[in-house]
Amino acid sequence: MYPLYILQKQFGYASFRMKQEAIINHVLQKKDTFVLMPTGGGKSLCYQIPALLFDGLSLVISPLIALMKDQVDALRVNGIEAAYLNSTQSPQEQKAILDKAREKKLKLLYLAPEKLLSSDKHTSLLETLQTFSISLIAIDEAHCISQWGHDFRPEYLMLAQLKKAFPNAPMIALTATADQLTQKDIIEKLELKDPAVFISSFNRPNIRYTVEPKQGSFERLLRFLEPRKEAQGIIYCLSRRSTEKLADDLSRHGFKSLPYHAGMEREQRARNQEMFLREDVRIMVATIAFGMGIDKSNVRYVVHMDLPKSIESYYQETGRAGRDGLDSEALLFYSPGDLARLKHFVVIDDNADQTKIALKKLEQMGQFGELSTCRRKYLLNYFEEQAPEHCGNCDICLSQVESFDETPLAQKVLAALSQLQEKFGAGYLIDFMHGASSSRMQEQHMTLSTYGCGADIAREEWQRIIDDLVSRRYLIKLHGSYPKLKITARGQRVLEGLEKVILTRFKEKPAPEATEKLVYEKELLLQLKNLRKQLAAAEQSPAYVVLSDASLLEIATY
Ligand code: ADP
Ligand code: MG
Ligand code: ZN
Repeated sequence: MYPLYILQKQFGYASFRMKQEAIINHVLQKKDTFVLMPTGGGKSLCYQIPALLFDGLSLVISPLIALMKDQVDALRVNGIEAAYLNSTQSPQEQKAILDKAREKKLKLLYLAPEKLLSSDKHTSLLETLQTFSISLIAIDEAHCISQWGHDFRPEYLMLAQLKKAFPNAPMIALTATADQLTQKDIIEKLELKDPAVFISSFNRPNIRYTVEPKQGSFERLLRFLEPRKEAQGIIYCLSRRSTEKLADDLSRHGFKSLPYHAGMEREQRARNQEMFLREDVRIMVATIAFGMGIDKSNVRYVVHMDLPKSIESYYQETGRAGRDGLDSEALLFYSPGDLARLKHFVVIDDNADQTKIALKKLEQMGQFGELSTCRRKYLLNYFEEQAPEHCGNCDICLSQVESFDETPLAQKVLAALSQLQEKFGAGYLIDFMHGASSSRMQEQHMTLSTYGCGADIAREEWQRIIDDLVSRRYLIKLHGSYPKLKITARGQRVLEGLEKVILTRFKEKPAPEATEKLVYEKELLLQLKNLRKQLAAAEQSPAYVVLSDASLLEIATY
């Protein structure tokens, strides 16, 4: 049986994403593996599929009980023998699960890390597990083991014992958030043996990043939500109290919302989460306690009312938007004052090093809020990934591009080319559209309705439009003995009016002081005019009097 077969038959997906297949093949060779893949990238399958292909039982360490249950439920729906052990279960339930494992009737067992050392009479769970045949150990959310990471959990430190307890089982550590320092730390703490490191691109092209001033954020939020009434969204607040207040305020303004934070009763919290997942309520107003591992693909926006404490947190949280690949929004409310205020909170008692790191991370988050260059580039570079200068899908880039509907012009090109039976290249086509008067051209094409249809537009402009159409695959260039343009299926759709051609282009960047300069020049001109009048009145040299406005301006700005 092959990974692809399992993917299709058991999980019902057509093909692997990103590096899933390479990762799975590596794990299948029983080698240690480190996976850094963005949230929603599909990390789970990287251990679930090997678990199904291996003989014995695979252990999955996962930090959140709620998350574990969801994953196990999802696996069972797909007919996979999976179970979890955590403190919410009765001893009988737990025993039943271990019995099942002993009888080799389980493929995946999810565990909370603190469970490992818990003991039943005299034997710890770890010891019990050692009597089973364990074929793979997966550490999900592996960044929780590192103090450098953004969500350190002391109980993860116990996982250092796993490698010794199961020296023959390959280990796979997975996370969506780890800079190089954290990666190294994870690998050391887990004692991964010469692991292959798989890093997937962090870019989430469908998420649009926007920052707005924090002043008046509630009104701004209402304006943001208004056209998104039907969409699911998460709004993050810093404090528990503010989640409750904001959920109330929004509900009163007709945006039904529920709060979620770690201080709520467990049942209430679970109920709110369930309501959100079932889309009985559109908006979850939450602290960062909400969201880790939540597998909801159609979250259309993530809003941060307050500044997150690091780029890692911000990226992780915004990454919960648009897992289905459709257009989504990440909106952050920022003010420098917020940054200054938060700095007071990050002081970590008696630990100057950690305080320093935390402050630096916060400052980087502040820098993000104050960018005047592409936000996506900043984020990707932060994760040590190359990125182009402009992404075209963040507020900064969008303030610098203009988009326009080029469909009518594109249709002219396509119609003309079609009448010419796609026999010519761009140069000829443009001549034809211009109605060039060479006798051959006239003779051959006079009768065609599109002959001369583009005479009102400059040749260079047509050339640019054709280049656009080629680069966006409405046309393809064939290079034979002489070049020809062909209309693609997509181009055909445009011709038939089934698809629009929307082009975006970077605006000529206006010099920031351009308008100021204009005002200044106008003033100057007025003064000079007055001067001219005075000179004329004083019957000074007539040469001054005949100076035009333009030349006055020239003198003035010289
Ligand atoms: P992560 O743990 O990396 O955040 P998940 O493993 O929870 O991501 O996967 C996110 C979503 O993507 C899930 O709904 C999952 O079923 C889906 N998914 C994963 N791999 C594929 C694939 N190859 N094809 C289609 N959907 C996939
Ligand atoms: Mg996951
Ligand atoms: Zn951008």
